[in-house]
Amino acid sequence: MSALPDVIVIGAGVIGLSAALALQAEGRRVVVLDREGPAAGASAGNAGAFAFTDILPLASPGILRKASKWLLDPLGPLSVPPAYALRIAPWMFRFWRACAPHRVAQSTAAQTALMDLSKALLEPFLERTGTLPMLRKDGNLQVYEGEAEFRASLAGWQARAGHGIDFHHMNAREMAEIQPGIAPRFTHGTFTPGWYSISDPKLYTLALAERFVAGGGRIDQAEARALRPVENGIEVTAGTTLRAGHVVLAAGAFSHRIARTLGERIPLETERGYNTTLPASAFDLRTQITFGGHGFVITRLSSGIRVGGAVELGGLDLPPNFGRSRAMLGKAKTFLPGLDARGGTEWMGFRPSLPDSLPVIGVARETPRVVYAFGHGHLGLTQSVGTARLVADLVAGRKPAIDLSPFSPRRF
Ligand SMILES: Cc1cc2nc3c(=O)[nH]c(=O)nc-3n(C[C@H](O)[C@H](O)[C@H](O)COP(=O)(O)OP(=O)(O)OC[C@H]3O[C@@H](n4cnc5c(N)ncnc54)[C@H](O)[C@@H]3O)c2cc1C
Repeated sequence: MSALPDVIVIGAGVIGLSAALALQAEGRRVVVLDREGPAAGASAGNAGAFAFTDILPLASPGILRKASKWLLDPLGPLSVPPAYALRIAPWMFRFWRACAPHRVAQSTAAQTALMDLSKALLEPFLERTGTLPMLRKDGNLQVYEGEAEFRASLAGWQARAGHGIDFHHMNAREMAEIQPGIAPRFTHGTFTPGWYSISDPKLYTLALAERFVAGGGRIDQAEARALRPVENGIEVTAGTTLRAGHVVLAAGAFSHRIARTLGERIPLETERGYNTTLPASAFDLRTQITFGGHGFVITRLSSGIRVGGAVELGGLDLPPNFGRSRAMLGKAKTFLPGLDARGGTEWMGFRPSLPDSLPVIGVARETPRVVYAFGHGHLGLTQSVGTARLVADLVAGRKPAIDLSPFSPRRF
């Protein structure tokens, strides 16, 4: 590509690459910049779920009830390292405010619109990018320890039913038909068939990168440091100075640092997540299982069995505490007694998270030539294809496919 690109996309994670492919499909010359190369961030190590039924925002009264219990366990599902507690306090305050019932209703409606768009566009996108064989439709089984935990979940399921989501509540015998080998302490379950997975999130992201390059795109390894509006375009400082008509900022949990060079203050934080990927022979897993009371899931990937989740509000700079991966693995071994927990690989990644559990999708305050697409929290893979379409709409100056006001960078 010799002429100036039409668009520079910053970030070669699942959001940036999906957006780059959507722009390329509309005939635009696109360059993607990533300081490490494709699939370097959260997009590589996530749990691989297209969790389209997960429409309820994390910021909700239910999570506040669980959080007070979870925080008591230093290696539990939610933790705030003391070294980061003061820094994260304003974000937590905003999170708490987003838990008000009227805010939850608004976020649920917005999340549902983005989920529906993403689901409708997913299969045509996978088909076009040659990745359809990686899609699995083996659902998700949420399991509960006893009647009380199950009953506490019912209000959430009722809310999902109101949005047309299909699910089936089950007793232990019915669960065993879907997934044998779950410990008897899990007495109830809910199966959601409309929850899909990708066979491996890293291989999927790399496949998107390959497809983008095969379609004439270019991926440069460079760290974007600053953005500056210039006549008819945007200048990106990334070692050398690059220029394009538009810039899409999709640098995951690091995006706010770059947005700040345009004078924008966006309260992006990271919910650090952990996992261990075991050899594929570790367990005969037939669906993804969510242990909601313990904040982790177990997923079958082409590369192995992944046990992961947890939220650590520890910022971008503290070293990882892999005690968390081990704590989840220890629990998984108890919950699935046949699991062979040996020979795993540990990983930590940065979920990019806004306090109201919605991403930022919209244009910069200073110029519509910079499009923001970050902050997808627990749902970046799930919402990647819908986000890509919305980015393409914004770059083209078209009316976006859904109302973007709930996702506005100026909502804070
Ligand atoms: C444990 C865990 C489990 C998860 N499970 C799921 C799941 O099952 N389903 C789901 O939908 N989501 C899941 N997620 C969330 C999902 O992984 C993220 O929302 C998603 O990957 C975010 O994608 P992204 O492209 O925005 O960011 P990333 O994948 O982090 O990509 C950002 C890229 O930007 C680059 N970058 C950063 N700064 C710069 C710079 N200055 N210049 C150039 N490049 C830069 C990085 O190198 C990186 O490659 C999970 C996350 C975790 C941690």
